[in-house]
Amino acid sequence: MSLKVLVLNSGSSSIKFELFEMPSEKRQARGLLEKIGEEQSKLTYTIGDSKYTIDQKVADHGQGLRLIIDALTDQSKGGLKDISEIGAVGHRVVHGGEAFSETVIIDDKVQKAVEEHIQLAPLHNPPNLLGIKVARELLPNVPQVAVFDTAYHQTMPAYAFTYPIPYELYEQLRVRRYGFHGTSHRYVAARAAKILGRKLEETNLITAHLGNGASMTAIQNGKSIDTTMGLTPLEGLIMGTRCGDIDPAIIAFLARVKDMPVAQIDNLLNKKSGMLGVSGLSNDMRSVEQAANEGNTRAALALEMYCYRIKKYVGAYTAAIGNVHALVFTAGVGENSDVVRERVCSNLQNIGYKIDVEKNRGVRGKELDIATADSPIRILIIPTNEELMIAQDTYALTAKK
Ligand code: ADP
Repeated sequence: MSLKVLVLNSGSSSIKFELFEMPSEKRQARGLLEKIGEEQSKLTYTIGDSKYTIDQKVADHGQGLRLIIDALTDQSKGGLKDISEIGAVGHRVVHGGEAFSETVIIDDKVQKAVEEHIQLAPLHNPPNLLGIKVARELLPNVPQVAVFDTAYHQTMPAYAFTYPIPYELYEQLRVRRYGFHGTSHRYVAARAAKILGRKLEETNLITAHLGNGASMTAIQNGKSIDTTMGLTPLEGLIMGTRCGDIDPAIIAFLARVKDMPVAQIDNLLNKKSGMLGVSGLSNDMRSVEQAANEGNTRAALALEMYCYRIKKYVGAYTAAIGNVHALVFTAGVGENSDVVRERVCSNLQNIGYKIDVEKNRGVRGKELDIATADSPIRILIIPTNEELMIAQDTYALTAKK
């Protein structure tokens, strides 16, 4: 049965949306409402191939979603005939803690659980929750589904998710590794299995989601067994503005020597570090690559550090998994930067990764195997599609068969 699925990703001052017809996976509309609560909000969206913009003040998420639904049902622009055509809503939710290991249909209990996880994701879960609340009010008879960034990683074994700090902190406060980007890692894992012609349950992968935020996952028999992000998205790889792995004593050092309050240190590590902090230029990989090309030594250092950290995790996860079938590059940097892919894979032939440098060169945003014919492990570029994954999950849970 065909069903129109609205996918919502609600941020603190924005709502991203896509409308899919399922199961054909045809995207009918997509858009972004920005600057909610500011003087001048902006809705940009596409229906079919036509682009539209609406500039108008939007006070809150409720008004925002109403504006989005009005835009989606504007028949003069080729929109839906009626709001009742929307058959299901899929929400992206960042933190599901240990309560959710898969996608679920939202009821009052689930909504309450999302609320209870605010402490673990104070920046992300409140707007996600707000999106759920206003969508349930505006579309009361439409089934709604929550897809958690953390859910895919709930299969990690205790020895991978437990931090070596007093165990009571886990028991009392659930301090542990959760991991994020789960929807993206899961999506590219399924695509990789298809490309490799293997059953997902028999596929071992290392997936590298390299966007503004970046994380890698070790996947054994289709399941996440380790991932680089931790309690929060700050751990692991070097990112646009986040530091990733550092000596935790740096925090106490800064507090002591610079007399910095903890909130300021948190902000420094999340917003002023990573590629931006080291290069002093930008969090955007394109700018850093260009500056490095032009001889900027700090940009060159940032780029080298970025690739080196990924390479170290490739080695670590190869050891953790044992028999890797493919390394997958995805998201903005992974899909587009041949420089990063080449550097990460250079000199890894001894552990099974042989990149075809010519094949890799200039490839942007398309599925391709860039390993040499004789490489024991495949190296794949796979564009991610988290919205489609959410639509697929939503359809699977809500469509009447
Ligand atoms: P987000 O995490 O915000 O969804 P994306 O997955 O869109 O991020 O990735 C954003 C990153 O991708 C930026 O650092 C951007 O510079 C990088 N990127 C996009 N295109 C290219 C390119 N052609 N070469 C190198 N980096 C690129």
